[in-house]
Amino acid sequence: MQLDSNQISGLIGICREQIARHSDELSELDSAIGDGDHGTNMLRGFEAVFEARPELAGKPLPQALQDIGMVLVMSVGGAAGPLYGTLLIELGRGLEKADGAESFAAILQRAIAAVARRGRSGPGDKTLLDVLYPVHDELSRHATLHEIARRAVSAALATQPMEARRGRASFLGPRSIGHVDPGAFSCAILTAAICTYLQECTVQ
Ligand code: ADP
Ligand code: MG
Repeated sequence: MQLDSNQISGLIGICREQIARHSDELSELDSAIGDGDHGTNMLRGFEAVFEARPELAGKPLPQALQDIGMVLVMSVGGAAGPLYGTLLIELGRGLEKADGAESFAAILQRAIAAVARRGRSGPGDKTLLDVLYPVHDELSRHATLHEIARRAVSAALATQPMEARRGRASFLGPRSIGHVDPGAFSCAILTAAICTYLQECTVQ
C-alpha cells in the first residue's frame, strides 16, 4: 500500500475530526460499562497525533504508522492506548518488512494477533477486537471499502448483546449486556473514516 504525504495528512485529519465528533458519545458508552473516559482518551490521542501531523505526514507510511502508534500509546492512556498503539506499530512494522508478496490482509492479521496477545483477549470478549476481526475478514474476501466500513459499524453494534470478558466492563459481568462496547465503537468510527477517505482518493 502506498500513500503520499498529502494522503497521510488527510487520513490523520479525518480520524481526528471523526473522533472529535463522536467523543461525547464514546464517553457516554464508556459511562454505561466503564469509567466514562473513552471519548476524552481518544480525543486527547488524536489531538496529539494531529499536532505532530506535519512531521508524521512527511514519513513513509510504514514509519508514519509506527510513530502514530507511539504517540497514541503515550497520549491516549487507559486500556485502549496501548492496544491501538500496538495495532499501528505492528501494522507499520509489517508493511516495512513486506516484500510485496504478502497481502495487506495478512499484515493486518498479524497486527490484530499482537493486539489480542497484548490484551489477552479474543473474539466475543466485547472489545475493539470484535470489530478488527470482521474488518480483516472483509479485507480477505476483497470486499469494497464501502462494505468494509459497513461491516465495521455492524460489528460494533453487534457487541451490544455480548457479555464483556476483558477490560473494565468485565467487572460488571452480565450487567455489561445491552450496551455497545466503546472501544468497538471507536474502532468502527475510525475504520469508516479511513475507508471513506481512501474511497475518495481512488475516485479522484
Ligand atoms: P479504560 O478501560 O482503561 O478506561 P478506555 O475507556 O479508553 O480505557 O478503553 C476501553 C476500551 O478498551 C474497551 O471498550 C475495549 O474495547 C478496550 N479494551 C479494554 N481492555 C481490553 C483488552 N484486554 N483487550 C482488548 N480490548 C480491551
Ligand atoms: Mg474508560
